[in-house]
Amino acid sequence: MTATMPEQRFLPRESLQTLFDVLAERGYRTIGPVVLDKAIQYVELSDASALPTGWTDDQQPGHYRLTQVESPRCFAWANGPQAFKPYLNRSREVLWESRRDSEGNLEFVLPTPTDKPLAVIGARACDLAALALQDRHFLDQARDPGYAARRASLFSVAVHCTHPATTCFCVSTGDGPRATSGFDIALSELDDGYLVETSSDTGRALAAALPLQPADDEHNRAAAAEIDAVAQRQCRQLPSDDLRQTLFSRLDHPRWEDVAARCLSCGNCTSVCPTCFCHSERDQVELGGARSQHLREWDSCFSEGHGHLHGFQVRPETRHRYRQWLTHKLDSWHDQYGRSGCVGCGRCITWCPVGIDLTAEAHAICDDAIEPEDSA
Ligand code: SF4
Ligand code: SF4
Repeated sequence: MTATMPEQRFLPRESLQTLFDVLAERGYRTIGPVVLDKAIQYVELSDASALPTGWTDDQQPGHYRLTQVESPRCFAWANGPQAFKPYLNRSREVLWESRRDSEGNLEFVLPTPTDKPLAVIGARACDLAALALQDRHFLDQARDPGYAARRASLFSVAVHCTHPATTCFCVSTGDGPRATSGFDIALSELDDGYLVETSSDTGRALAAALPLQPADDEHNRAAAAEIDAVAQRQCRQLPSDDLRQTLFSRLDHPRWEDVAARCLSCGNCTSVCPTCFCHSERDQVELGGARSQHLREWDSCFSEGHGHLHGFQVRPETRHRYRQWLTHKLDSWHDQYGRSGCVGCGRCITWCPVGIDLTAEAHAICDDAIEPEDSA
């Protein structure tokens, strides 16, 4: 079945630079994908020629390689290791400063947001779904002023995914491949240009400044067919039946030991995950003692320190840490945020150095009947 496409206009490929120029004229700092350190990564850029034209990727559990092909397309790849998460949920953030003046008076100061508004080009549906989850945490629960300021001015240009990796499973989580919310403008990339749709007043105002043309039926059909094909090509999926109930009812399943024997507790999976937000906090004090900063830094449920509470280690072994990660992500996240914490981007599978696949682990724990203990 072909997906219904909203009304769209056409931006010729040679006019893509106009999108960057209009964003710059409106005061945005633009980030977008480039090839950096042999991977697709989001960096600040102002020139469409820096986009990864002709690059595509091969991803498997524990494997990522870029290759160049004959293609005019800039977005013919699946997500690289890092979403644009670090631009909103920074890996290190000053939450407050304390200062003592020469008379000994102590003052606590919140940092003043000074960033220019941010525009992201190339956001995928899974990362926009992850952004909505980060919003629930940092806006609704943590009420973080720094995140809120950055988020309020974010302009998002989505690109619907047409090149899923073998590790992707966004169809299974209901988060892709087509971006349906969370963007101002969305593009469908074709060889000769882009179908453009808008979903916000800011997006419509910006699109009005682009040299858009009427889209013809052939463009609409081709774009819809490419997105439909993505759904057909994804081979991974999460267990669908009672995943929440089953995981928590199998905390002693032997598979936790099995995966712990393979897991390095390196935390790569949490670093690349666009929904993970665990952090630690510490004070950084100047030697003179007149000023200190209270810092929030990314942490991982796989780190020893993260399980160290009030002198007691609550997750002493890797099996506890992997179990914490998987049950939180797929189960208790529902209680906190109303949905699973996984958007099916597949990064944790690709970037796990030993190729641990959370879909395989979830199936092994949820699908298999537990062997009854020997009663002899
Ligand atoms: S758990 Fe893995 S697949 Fe799911 S959102 Fe995080 S990195 Fe992506
Ligand atoms: S599952 Fe893989 S990426 Fe995650 S901590 Fe274990 S070895 Fe590292």
